[in-house]
Amino acid sequence: MNDAQARSGSIYRADERGYFGEFGGAVLPPFLVEPMAEVAAAYEEARRDPAFADELQTLLAKYVGRPSLLYAAENLTRELGGAKVYLKREDLNHTGAHKINHTLGEALLAKRMGKTKVIAETGAGQHGVALATAAALVGLECEIHMGAIDVEKQHPNVVRMELLGATVVPVERGGRSLKEAVDSAFEVYAGAPDEYLFAIGSVVGPHPFPTMVRDFQSVVGREARAQILEAEGRLPDALVACVGGGSNAMGLFDAFLEDESVRIIGVEPAGEGLDTDRHAATMTRGVTGEIHGMRTKVLLTADGEPAPVHSIGSGIDYPGVGPQHAHLEQIGRAEYVSVTDEEALRAFQLLTRTEGIIPALESSHAIAHVVRLAPTLSEDAIVIANLSGRGDKDVDFVAERLQKG
Ligand SMILES: *Cc1c(COP(=O)(O)O)cnc(C)c1O
Repeated sequence: MNDAQARSGSIYRADERGYFGEFGGAVLPPFLVEPMAEVAAAYEEARRDPAFADELQTLLAKYVGRPSLLYAAENLTRELGGAKVYLKREDLNHTGAHKINHTLGEALLAKRMGKTKVIAETGAGQHGVALATAAALVGLECEIHMGAIDVEKQHPNVVRMELLGATVVPVERGGRSLKEAVDSAFEVYAGAPDEYLFAIGSVVGPHPFPTMVRDFQSVVGREARAQILEAEGRLPDALVACVGGGSNAMGLFDAFLEDESVRIIGVEPAGEGLDTDRHAATMTRGVTGEIHGMRTKVLLTADGEPAPVHSIGSGIDYPGVGPQHAHLEQIGRAEYVSVTDEEALRAFQLLTRTEGIIPALESSHAIAHVVRLAPTLSEDAIVIANLSGRGDKDVDFVAERLQKG
């Protein structure tokens, strides 16, 4: 433990420069140093103000519909044999996933800072829709940069964002995909940091985002911890969550970090296999490097660029990972495993058929690991899996894919 961590009291908190051990920080070009420092200072102040937490808590209760259920999946438990499986039902939130928990927090912070607009990039469009929703509610303008290829591929999400009042900016340069959308959004932001808050979509990017987004999502684990104590009178044996950037996972894990009897397991996309170049298993196959303003694990090409990645779950195909995950693994507090597209697809079908719950393909990765884990544990064991989102968005794709066989 270094001095800063000793002062903040926990190895699970970043130091004042935003480092979790050797991971994190704010590795930024000069033009972004000042605006990000301003966000960090504003968040630090908001975090200490009970009125800010109250306002967010009220929106989470009255608008999102929290607390979300902790559902005992008895049919799935019977089917798998072994540990009792509970699902934290983030799919039941307004907008159908966990992302609304942090976009509301970001929108409230933007207002508090006197900004009139939020800006972000989006890939598949899920972050863009969640941010546009929060902006509509809180009364902010919203500008979403999106690669021109994604604009075509994700048409329904573009329509949703526009209906919600957001401006969608198609990015035509270079590969016309997420990478260019990030650059484009940051350029606009750098030109007018007084007007905008840059709203990052996961526990990634420069400090304070890995801490701030985790804090906004930590309601998931606080609820789950109270709910399992109420239902079973004890803590679970294991937590399982899918990891793209890692926000739904950190949200579930955070409240249990000090409970050393609880195993913590993050599940990454192995895509078409770890030995192909079609996966996004950053923790499993990545190296320490820099991406998007942070020091973390990264998947790189031979010439040191962020690698093209793939997953059947479009929200988890990211070549980096939240720095706290890299740290949790390094200190031995969490383990990271991976699940292929095929396994996720089978888990999607299994949960749908046994429980009548259609999970997002991202969340299906967590379920797929539960399918492996539960039978290895005794019937007294308890596993909580985070059902990060609902799968309505995926049904056409899955139907097509199953038809192809
Ligand atoms: C975006 C998304 C994810 C991945 O993001 P994390 O930051 O890793 O949580 C997972 N599940 C769903 C349903 C998503 O929309």
